[in-house]
Amino acid sequence: MGAQEAMDTMPQRNRAVQREARKIRDRQDNGPSYTEARSSVRRGQRRVRMLPAPAMVDTTLWARYGRWVFGTDDWQQWLFRTGCGHTQSPRDVVMAIPGTRPELALTRCFRHGPGADASVCPPVGSPGTQYYSVFWWHAKTAVFPFAFDEPYVVHGPLTEADDLDVVVPGITRPLEVPAG
Ligand SMILES: [Zn+2]
Repeated sequence: MGAQEAMDTMPQRNRAVQREARKIRDRQDNGPSYTEARSSVRRGQRRVRMLPAPAMVDTTLWARYGRWVFGTDDWQQWLFRTGCGHTQSPRDVVMAIPGTRPELALTRCFRHGPGADASVCPPVGSPGTQYYSVFWWHAKTAVFPFAFDEPYVVHGPLTEADDLDVVVPGITRPLEVPAG
């Protein structure tokens, strides 16, 4: 990718596109589907099919999905769907339970807790459930899928920023163990 593409970067681009597509869809009763509306929003936007969960994805692809869907690199604002269908973000969880490690919102349902009935809230990575296995050079971690139901995600021209991994301790990087 070249400098020209990098210069085309627009912050919040994907969120803006999605908002616009929803407006188009909601404007008329028998209008286009959300996906159809979104594909017509803006020239130069690209529509990419996301790998359906469960799937194994590398950290770069997973980071792209997150920033494309939620329009930000701040993974603590991303929304995840737990085994029982609860939606939670790392930021919400940390606000609600001070001292919680935010990355736990990707692997643990905060509605039901670790001792939950698995028939009500299957643990992340359970057979038959949706999850992404995020892998890096010598580890992989099952994480909840994004709370995003569209099979396609719209994003702008690729830039260098799209090749940056998002650093999530224990998910895309080793968990930092306190010294001593
Ligand atoms: Zn749950």
